[in-house]
Amino acid sequence: MPDSLSDLFALNRSWAAQTERDRPGFFTSLVAQQTPKYMWIGCSDSRVPANQITGLEPGEVFVHRNVANIVVHSDLNALSTIQFAVDLLKVEHIMVVGHYGCAGVKAGLDGIRVGLADNWIRHIQDVRDRHRALLDAVPTDKRADALCELNVVEQVANVCGSTVMLDAWGRGQNVRVHGWTFGVHDGLLNDLKLTVNSSEKFHTVYPEAIERIRAKWTQAA
Ligand SMILES: [Zn+2]
Repeated sequence: MPDSLSDLFALNRSWAAQTERDRPGFFTSLVAQQTPKYMWIGCSDSRVPANQITGLEPGEVFVHRNVANIVVHSDLNALSTIQFAVDLLKVEHIMVVGHYGCAGVKAGLDGIRVGLADNWIRHIQDVRDRHRALLDAVPTDKRADALCELNVVEQVANVCGSTVMLDAWGRGQNVRVHGWTFGVHDGLLNDLKLTVNSSEKFHTVYPEAIERIRAKWTQAA
């Protein structure tokens, strides 16, 4: 593991040289434009790097990350990133990706105070409180995993309810929103089978996704 900043520069030079050897002209081709098909909305957690998990190269995925992969209706940072991705880059897929073992989700579940971020994590608590009855039926040691999935569903809902998506779908643009989770323990992505390609579709897939989470985690009781 690198232990100094100079190591990072050395690793960077080595990566750039290796990439150029493997694919001459790679970087000069990136200068011209970026044409990613995918936008990733994930957690800032260092164990959940979008490109490495998906095997995507520079130029192939547009990324927004924050603590606990939350999309707030009035968050200009997230909304601007989504708008840029949809309106200018014309991405075809937006995936909201939560991860099991998320410290932000756990803090929200248990009401653990961590400082200023409590105000951000409050959004996780809103999800927890909205699904309180479901979570109460889940064994205690599985509740954080269930809340991780519920949070993805709710953040997919927030993306779908944004003016950016409503306008894009209104003009017939082909862009889908997906809900996924990632297992830090096994390195695998899990599709929550929540794929939305229109405002109408959202209203049918949302309750189905919640019911799948209820069946999955309460059966284990
Ligand atoms: Zn996290």
